[in-house]
Amino acid sequence: GLIWLDGDWVPWREAKTHVLTHTLHYGMGVFEGVRAYSTARGTAIFRLQDHTRRLFNSAHILGMPIPWDQDTLNEVQREVVRRNGLDSAYIRPMCFYGAEGMGLRADNLRVHCMVAAWSWGAYLGEENMRNGIRVRVSSFARHHVNITMCRAKANGNYLNSMLALQEALRDGYDEALLLDTEGYVMEGSGENVFIVRDGVIYTPDLTSALDGITRRTVIALSEEIGLKVIEKRITRDEVYIADEAFFTGTAAEVTPIREVDGRWIGAGTRGPITERLQSLYFEQVSGRRSE
Ligand code: PLP
Repeated sequence: GLIWLDGDWVPWREAKTHVLTHTLHYGMGVFEGVRAYSTARGTAIFRLQDHTRRLFNSAHILGMPIPWDQDTLNEVQREVVRRNGLDSAYIRPMCFYGAEGMGLRADNLRVHCMVAAWSWGAYLGEENMRNGIRVRVSSFARHHVNITMCRAKANGNYLNSMLALQEALRDGYDEALLLDTEGYVMEGSGENVFIVRDGVIYTPDLTSALDGITRRTVIALSEEIGLKVIEKRITRDEVYIADEAFFTGTAAEVTPIREVDGRWIGAGTRGPITERLQSLYFEQVSGRRSE
C-alpha cells in the first residue's frame, strides 16, 4: 500500500520517521479517524469535510501551523483510498512535529503531515455490535488540560484514554468509561456515550468530551425519527439504571453497551432503540438514507 507523507506517495514500509521526532517524545500532534464506506455510487468518505475541519481546528488550538490547506488534505484522503484500491477503509491523517530539534519548544520545528488508510472492521468486535460490550468506569479521570482542550483531537489527550483502556482490558472489560474531574460521565476512551431512559436519549453536553462527528449524526438521526435528545451532565448512577446505553465514534460506529461495572444495562443486551439507531447509522454511511 501507499501512504501520503509531506506531499509524496511512499510505499507503506518506507513511510518512516526519525527516532528523534518531537511528537514521539512530547506527544504534541493532531490526528483524525475517518471512515470510507462502500455505497451504491462507489466508495464514499463519511463526513470528510467535518473531519478535516476538526483536524485544522485541533491544530489551531495547539498553535500548530499545518502547511497544507483543507482542500488538499480532503483530496489526499480521497486519493489514499483510491490508490490503495479500498472500497471501505479507516483513514488516519496525522500532523506532527519533526526531528529538527529537541526541548519543549516547537515553534521552530517543521510540521509534517501523513495520511494512511487500511481496511478495518468493527472496532470493538463484530459480535459485540449485536450483543453489546462490557464497560468499566475508569479510575483515570479526564484531567484539566484534557477538558479545556477537549475540542482538539490531539495526541496528548490520549494518555488518560490509553491508561483507562489498559485498566479496563486488564480487568476483563472491553472498554472504559471516563469521568470528568467532578465525577460526571464524559466519554469512552475513543467514543462518545449515550444512554436511553423511558424512550428519551441523553448524552453528556460538550463541556469535556470531544465534539464527535458520529455523536452529531446520531443526535440528528434520533430527532429525525421523533426521539427526544437531551444534552446534559450525566451521573454514574444514571448510567447504571439506564434502559439502554451505547457508544458512538467513527471507529466504534454505534456500539451497544450491555454492562457497566458488573451491572446489567436494561435487559443486558442490545436495546431496541440502540438497534434502530445502529441500523439508521449504517444506512446513512452507506448512502442508503438520503441526507
Ligand atoms: N471521543 C474521543 C476521545 C475520541 O477519540 C473519538 C474518536 O474520534 C470520539 C469521541 C468520537 O468522535 P467521532 O465520532 O468524531 O469519531
